[in-house]
Amino acid sequence: MSLIRNTKNTEKVIGIPRAMSFYHDWAFYYGFFNDLGVKIVLSDSTTKQTLSDGCALVVSETCLPIKIYMGHIVNLLGKGVDKILVPSLQSIGPKIYNCSKIRGLPDLVRNVVKRDFTMVEAVLDKSEKNQGFYEYLGEIAKYYGIKNAARVKKASKAGWRVYNNFLMMTKSGMRYEDAMNYALSGKVFIQDRTKEYPISVAVISHGYNIYDERASMKVFDKLEAMNARVFTALQLSGEQMQDGLKALGQGLYWANECEMSGAAGFYLKDTRVDGIITISAFGCGPDSLMIERMSRKSKRFGKPMLNLTIDEQTGEAGFITRLEAFVDMLYRQKRNKITDTGSNSGELAGQRVRFENLVQ
Ligand code: SF4
Repeated sequence: MSLIRNTKNTEKVIGIPRAMSFYHDWAFYYGFFNDLGVKIVLSDSTTKQTLSDGCALVVSETCLPIKIYMGHIVNLLGKGVDKILVPSLQSIGPKIYNCSKIRGLPDLVRNVVKRDFTMVEAVLDKSEKNQGFYEYLGEIAKYYGIKNAARVKKASKAGWRVYNNFLMMTKSGMRYEDAMNYALSGKVFIQDRTKEYPISVAVISHGYNIYDERASMKVFDKLEAMNARVFTALQLSGEQMQDGLKALGQGLYWANECEMSGAAGFYLKDTRVDGIITISAFGCGPDSLMIERMSRKSKRFGKPMLNLTIDEQTGEAGFITRLEAFVDMLYRQKRNKITDTGSNSGELAGQRVRFENLVQ
């Protein structure tokens, strides 16, 4: 029998696992819960212990992000948090669905975490229930005794403010963690891209695979050390990702199709980008379908693609070796192009990065 209590008490503390949708929504939740006067307790960054706690709870075939998520629930419970946000993000638009694990996250947690706590398990379902984002936020607020729709709307505006500032900075090319830190402290800086790189790659993956440094093995630092500029979906607008989907001849079915296929399609066409790196979790059904299609299209666009799969056994040495080999190949390809055309445009022109303070 599950020990999870779903009683809706009025204690204003929420635990947020630093996993899964956290990497998309944290800026929003920060503004939203602060405005509602709900104290946020975040789980700690992913460690070996987080992973081992998560792996102990689910069958080994489960994908890495879900194992990590379970480990973060254990971490929050260890901090004494007894009310944790476990959303059920079913569908983000008409007939646009998340994978079954994301949709059934509350059931998954209920069945494997036999501890006494309250799950704040709001549902977002724009297909079957026509239950949109404000209904979803309203459900969350009810756990804190807040039933006034106008109050929830006001808090959501505070959430959007932080989120939009965050996106504005990532679109300017700022790294995820820098943009997040500025946004949470109420600042906006636009990165001036004066640094030039000899090569550029687009990294295509879910936020939870690449912004969790343990899961991604600090892929951005590694690419930076190889002097490669990195593009991600966070630098693109919704329209650019829709363009990318069209370039792949693909419709929208999976909720994360825009950040995966849309971004890949856009960067396959983008002449600034020399190669594409996909990072997906072992056993991920939606990614295997999307990446297969991207790989086929990459050949048509004549752009090299490296597909990396991660799980809890992935060794850092092998991961780096594959990255280095791919980046070396891109350098060679670029050098050959420069030699063929007699251009020296691949040389470094500067290393300076300047930030301009726009809004305080
Ligand atoms: S989309 Fe893939 S990686 Fe993400 S939760 Fe579902 S199966 Fe796991």
